[in-house]
Amino acid sequence: MKDPEKEVEKVFIGGLHEELVEDKIIDESQLEPDFPALIQKYGGKDVMTCLQCGNCTGVCPISLKIDYKTRNIIKCCQFGLKKYTLGTRWVCATCYRCYEHCPADLNPADIMIALRHIAVREGIIPPFVKTAVTNLVKYGQSVKPDPEIDKIRKELGLNPIHSHDPEYQAIIKEIQVLVHASKYDKLIGIQDEVRV
Ligand code: SF4
Ligand code: SF4
Repeated sequence: MKDPEKEVEKVFIGGLHEELVEDKIIDESQLEPDFPALIQKYGGKDVMTCLQCGNCTGVCPISLKIDYKTRNIIKCCQFGLKKYTLGTRWVCATCYRCYEHCPADLNPADIMIALRHIAVREGIIPPFVKTAVTNLVKYGQSVKPDPEIDKIRKELGLNPIHSHDPEYQAIIKEIQVLVHASKYDKLIGIQDEVRV
């Protein structure tokens, strides 16, 4: 029979998908020297000052669920190992715990956001992002309204979601104007959903 305490310990120490950059054999052909500058351009200005202490990984609520931990990702960024960085950053919750605990006053969350900027410009857009933004421009929220949810809201004494009310529609229009003006609709390919 499994000992639950030992299982917890194993998961905590090793991580569910532990994969260290240090364990990889890397050759020069994998390095993109301009990558750190690109990250800085999109807001990850402190990327080169990371001390590799690992505090950010220790406090990150999603670090056990991702292939590369925050510290590993930053190391890849410094080396210009772009191919290891663009796939996993969508799960960052931008909670800023890493920033609060960083002894170098570096903001890893800004680096994660910069990696998303770079990823979408390279056409790496997870389907859930498109779905969430499509719902946002259509309904004013990232989750599609559901009559079942309205039923539960009613049972709890809450008002239904009023996405058809004129006032609500005016807010949705404003969201569409902003998404279009920032060219975000074109960037992620949802122009047909935006009517401005
Ligand atoms: S901001 Fe992202 S990387 Fe930093 S602790 Fe939160 S989830 Fe982890
Ligand atoms: S806490 Fe700061 S210095 Fe330490 S590894 Fe993370 S980003 Fe680098």
